[in-house]
Amino acid sequence: MPEDTLPIYSVTPFTMLDFPGRTACIVWFSGCNMRCGYCHNPQIVKGKGRGTAAEVLAFLEKRQGLLDGVVLSGGEASVYPGLPAFIRQVRDMGYAVKLDTNGLRPDIVQAFLDDGFLDYVALDYKAPPEKFKKVTGIRKYEDFSATLSLLCGQKTVPFEVRTTVHTALMDENDVCAIMRDLEDRGYDRTYYIQNFRADNDRPTLAALSKQERELDCRSLPAGKNFHVEFRNFDTLT
Ligand code: SF4
Repeated sequence: MPEDTLPIYSVTPFTMLDFPGRTACIVWFSGCNMRCGYCHNPQIVKGKGRGTAAEVLAFLEKRQGLLDGVVLSGGEASVYPGLPAFIRQVRDMGYAVKLDTNGLRPDIVQAFLDDGFLDYVALDYKAPPEKFKKVTGIRKYEDFSATLSLLCGQKTVPFEVRTTVHTALMDENDVCAIMRDLEDRGYDRTYYIQNFRADNDRPTLAALSKQERELDCRSLPAGKNFHVEFRNFDTLT
């Protein structure tokens, strides 16, 4: 698939929140290799591209000097063979690149690290092994685990690990299991725990009902070598 046929769903033209230290735009790719029940972007996951890489590149050309970063999100951008050529053109324009990924393509992440394609990675740690299928709809924890290992084993590209929690799917024990695993792997950055937020009452991918309760953040231990940050929890405000 050449880069001009990348299935781009939309572009968020400006964000100061999604790429640490950068003023960025977000490119949303259609399609995903997971089926998370809580996904609030079913229209992106199941949808087709509505725009082209050429349109995004034209947009980026106009924003040179105003933005300095591009976030590749979705959906899951890493599944597309045309992505490397697209990233190369984005970088040639002087933009830094952040990849948001579910980690199912360690081969791609490794290749991108080797090629110096990435300035930041946000990796979703969806669930511990025994819950991975329940949360994501697929049994590929080992692939995710390989991506986490390779990111933890390098010091060149900053990255973050984050987990979205819908308490119909995950509980405090599951989050503790993830934290223990991060400790075992020597993770020493910030671990973000995000509360699931319904998006304008739009149905999620698995039409999950609203959470009956939020995760009890106060019952979680502190991270040993990493900082824990909570996002979107009403019970903490
Ligand atoms: S939440 Fe899951 S299904 Fe939705 S885009 Fe992310 S990885 Fe894909």
